[in-house]
Amino acid sequence: MDHFNYRGNALYAEDVPVTSIVAKWGSPCYVYSRATLERHFKVFDEAFANQPHRICYAVKANSNIAILSILAKLGAGFDIVSQGELERVLLAGGKPNDIVFSGVGKLVPELERAMEVGVGCFNLESPSELMRVNDIAKRLNIIAPISLRVNPDINVETHPYIATGLKENKFGIEYDQALPLLREARKLSNVKIVGIGYHIGSQLMQIQPFLEAFDRVGKLVDQCQEEGIVLTHLDIGGGLGVRYRDENPPSPADYIAAILKRLRHPQLELIMEPGRAIVANAGILVTRVEYLKKTSHKNFAVVDAAMNDLLRPSLYQAYQEIIPVINQSTDYQTWDIVGPVCETGDFLGKDRSLSLKEQDLLAIRTAGAYGFTMSSNYNSRPKIPEVLVDQDQMFLIRKRETYSDLTLHENLLPQGEL
Ligand SMILES: *Cc1c(COP(=O)(O)O)cnc(C)c1O
Repeated sequence: MDHFNYRGNALYAEDVPVTSIVAKWGSPCYVYSRATLERHFKVFDEAFANQPHRICYAVKANSNIAILSILAKLGAGFDIVSQGELERVLLAGGKPNDIVFSGVGKLVPELERAMEVGVGCFNLESPSELMRVNDIAKRLNIIAPISLRVNPDINVETHPYIATGLKENKFGIEYDQALPLLREARKLSNVKIVGIGYHIGSQLMQIQPFLEAFDRVGKLVDQCQEEGIVLTHLDIGGGLGVRYRDENPPSPADYIAAILKRLRHPQLELIMEPGRAIVANAGILVTRVEYLKKTSHKNFAVVDAAMNDLLRPSLYQAYQEIIPVINQSTDYQTWDIVGPVCETGDFLGKDRSLSLKEQDLLAIRTAGAYGFTMSSNYNSRPKIPEVLVDQDQMFLIRKRETYSDLTLHENLLPQGEL
């Protein structure tokens, strides 16, 4: 459920007509709904009921600081994968202690900064990283809280680029190496083991692989207890899928209920790292039809948004629903919705039945996650604005880049070098 609905034939974001957002800030633009965002967070939070838990929103899904500040205010923690994300969370008012730092390649300055501000947990992915974290912590004279990200070797049905829990993936510590590494970690002077966790992939449509991973890692928790390694949390990662088309993902409530039913260590705090399931449906991408172009094979609608604004269709052949901002439903034809970027792979949707004229506005749904955050300046296209709607109010939470922004960090060669 979201708050992008038609009133009459006009698409609204909460109580604001999408056309009035475009009238103010132009096209293309991202539009987010605060009510949808908040509802999704609360669904996760409430499903845990009395079980000690922390929802660490995965910042990479949508890292706008206004979005992060809303989640921080609701009590969210954050799952970050870089210092850039850390700085965003701090700007947005997130508490350092509620941050978990994930990622397979954390750099020395990133770790230093995270330790200086007091990040709550470092989710380690290799023996070398454990040594690096211990060394830096020693130098800074602190004890770094650590968790191991275990790779439970679970096969999941999703796009291969976003399956992360198989032994051939780069992520996590191989299951059989986890316990030996924890024994090593226990001997180190400047780390404290606080948890264990996993994240097996994204856009998952079944509960079963999550439960398999939970049970496998639960066995490791048992082994830790037998050896006197004290854990305070178990991190079950993110990855819950959303509906882009006709998928039927488990509801957060059903998924969490299934986890709680199997939980054999209720004293542990459960950490969860949802990204997509919190923000995907809270956003749309609005774009304008510039040209309608018919060939003997295909009808193309060339729009003003492109793969640099929304990469998922090009990168994963992902389907995202495309609907008219003003629904006139007269002459339906089949269209490929394509952008101006010079790549054949630049499309937002293929073979869509739509009633289109030039200058019409379209909304690409479920664009709140991995939308703006994956955008780029490819083809020297300025990044587009992000607007947050809260009931009948709208806020510009990121302005459109200008052409001078594009070259801000570039230098011409000095005089005489040409
Ligand atoms: C990407 C990621 C997430 C979030 O995944 P979603 O599919 O967006 O829920 C959580 N944890 C880690 C470690 C990640 O890399």
